[in-house]
Amino acid sequence: MQNMVILGATGSIGASTLSVVACNPEQYKVYALVAHTNVEKMLQICIAHQPKIAHMVDSKAATALKAQLPSSLNIEVTTGEDELLALVSAAEVDTVMAAIVGAAGLPSTLAAVKAGKRVLLANKESLVMSGQLFIEAMQHSGAQVLPVDSEHNAIFQCLSERSQLEIGRCDLAGAGVSHILLTGSGGPFLTSDLSLLPAMTPEQACKHPNWSMGRKISVDSATMMNKGLEYIEARWLFNASPEQLKVVIHPQSVIHSMVQYRDGSVLAQLGNPDMRTPIAHCMSFPERITSGVEPLDFFKVGQLSFLEPDFNRFPCLALAIEACKQGQEATTVVNAANEISVQAFLDGKIRFTDIAKINEQSLINTATHPLNNIEDILALDTQSRRYTLEAISKLN
Ligand code: NAD
Ligand code: MG
Repeated sequence: MQNMVILGATGSIGASTLSVVACNPEQYKVYALVAHTNVEKMLQICIAHQPKIAHMVDSKAATALKAQLPSSLNIEVTTGEDELLALVSAAEVDTVMAAIVGAAGLPSTLAAVKAGKRVLLANKESLVMSGQLFIEAMQHSGAQVLPVDSEHNAIFQCLSERSQLEIGRCDLAGAGVSHILLTGSGGPFLTSDLSLLPAMTPEQACKHPNWSMGRKISVDSATMMNKGLEYIEARWLFNASPEQLKVVIHPQSVIHSMVQYRDGSVLAQLGNPDMRTPIAHCMSFPERITSGVEPLDFFKVGQLSFLEPDFNRFPCLALAIEACKQGQEATTVVNAANEISVQAFLDGKIRFTDIAKINEQSLINTATHPLNNIEDILALDTQSRRYTLEAISKLN
């Protein structure tokens, strides 16, 4: 029986994780559920899964949850940053699903890594920000980090067992790997006329052709910043150089990524676009469990196609790759700027095409400093957010 903490329990990944837990009740127990403000959803999943602890980051939400939870369930309601960090590090916890969205996920994800837990990593932003520090913390504590992001999970599945055991310090060339082929659908605007992009609405941007996800990552998929963040994520997880990483557009989202070997072999992982597959894989690795996902029907799929990314259409992808080449300070700045610009777009304050422009301005103009610890990272994150907010206010 594995005792699990689910960070971001009320979100899209949280829901898929709880659904896999429900398919395998004899193997997984929910120790704690963590969310931000959504009391109604938290109440519902607490009743269904009966965790020992329900943690609300927002203290008012914690008070409201406490008032509504039936006392017969005996669920302890907590709030506060220290309480959250203690909760993920508790001795009873085996596995932590890191699925808070954005930079807000960094402290709790890193705490789970430092405590040597088995960490199922969905919160790519934490790795984008902390890169080297994250990998070092993992090596120091012996934490096992398993990639939930479907592309990284696919790559992981296509690597040799030796490379799988060396996450964060893989010797790709030594394992015969020539390229990691990171696939992406291209999102809802892959074929839209470029002149229409400035007027695209949040609803249009969030309408992903294949995946159902939270709003931030949906906008990131429309700009392909998501693939850029994943490029940086792959760089750290698989110790890959820019020469070893290639982005391939694959509109059907059936192949979730591939590994190309020196001898001409290409290994791919395929499946329906449903996050319960990579989640179940991470939860049970190296075994396999039921996820509730329908088997892939090749006759329904019919065709698979591939395209080269057009950086003119997707400037955010080019920017993230450039930031990755520059280093961790640059990726932290771009990640923070992007969170602010995506939120401004979702709030109707800027146009879709302004996201890339604002992110680029932030990368060029935010003064950086060396990142030696989490405080340095959070300070640079704050600085970049401040600059980006200013840049947005000047735009209007
Ligand atoms: P979502 O918006 O559906 O859910 C976000 C969760 O984070 C919610 O439970 C919310 O309560 C919590 N949260 C938000 N702000 C918080 C804060 N300040 N403190 C604590 N908790 C906070 O997002 P999602 O789509 O489930 O994505 C979660 C993470 O997983 C993201 O990092 C995303 O990039 C990654 N991811 C998602 C998918 C997907 O299919 N949804 C796929 C790959 C990776
Ligand atoms: Mg992904």
